[in-house]
Amino acid sequence: MKLLAGKVSIVTGAARGIGAAIALKLAEHGSDVAFTYVSESSAEKATALEAQLQQLGVKAKAYKSNAGIFEECETFVNDVLKEFGKIDVCVNNAGISKDNLLLRLTPEQWDEVMDINLKSIFNMTKQVIRPMMKAKRGSIINMSSIVGVRGNAGQSSYAASKAGIIGFSKSVALELGSRNIRCNAIAPGFVETDMTHYLKDGDGATEFLKKIPLGRFGKAEEIADTTLFLASDMSSYVTGQVLSVCGGLNI
Ligand code: NAD
Repeated sequence: MKLLAGKVSIVTGAARGIGAAIALKLAEHGSDVAFTYVSESSAEKATALEAQLQQLGVKAKAYKSNAGIFEECETFVNDVLKEFGKIDVCVNNAGISKDNLLLRLTPEQWDEVMDINLKSIFNMTKQVIRPMMKAKRGSIINMSSIVGVRGNAGQSSYAASKAGIIGFSKSVALELGSRNIRCNAIAPGFVETDMTHYLKDGDGATEFLKKIPLGRFGKAEEIADTTLFLASDMSSYVTGQVLSVCGGLNI
């Protein structure tokens, strides 16, 4: 059964990793998909993903847009509304980590993480709520992290940005529930992507694995499955929640 037939979804930072898996999953379930990538070096991957989604029989388009810059998000959402007609689902996935102990963390690193991880969520959500209010429906899904719930040494800026996403998502859910707009966050544990390449490096990985009851790292597809649930009417009575997808991780 296709859970998103006739829907239009947008996904930020989808040229690779979790974002790409989400774009693919939503398209497999019948949604048209507009997604962003940010760097020239991602353009080739973005074009390949666009073609892959189109082969599934949905409309799909890649847009170059920096989620950390308000005006670029405004242009992206306006372009999508022109070309796709509406936005039913907004997945705010773009994110970075600049790991450093607080002693060494620079104000520039702090600002960069906050702009791309947290301000991006404000930028995009602010743009999509008007069309969603008009349509009297919508699902906004924000990518937090288990690190935002529990903290992690060497990741104070990342943890703060991801904790901010949780507070933001719960507040938006309270503001817009009466308009039939749902807003939830996902808190992945350690998922095998380019961002977590260090998990492949022997000893460190073994230490992490000891803390994961399911005994393995997550896969991008498993975060995509949770996103599909929150995007579709399968979760029609779920809002203001943080879904941890972390193999039971206890850090
Ligand atoms: P990734 O580095 O493979 O993907 C991140 C994507 O975001 C990339 O395509 C990148 O180009 C894009 N991006 C970066 N800055 C951007 C910007 N300014 N505008 C638009 N796009 C931008 O990492 P991933 O593991 O796929 O992470 C996806 C999301 O999941 C991130 O928000 C990350 O914090 C979160 N997350 C990941 C893990 C994990 O273990 N991999 C765990 C918890 C949360």
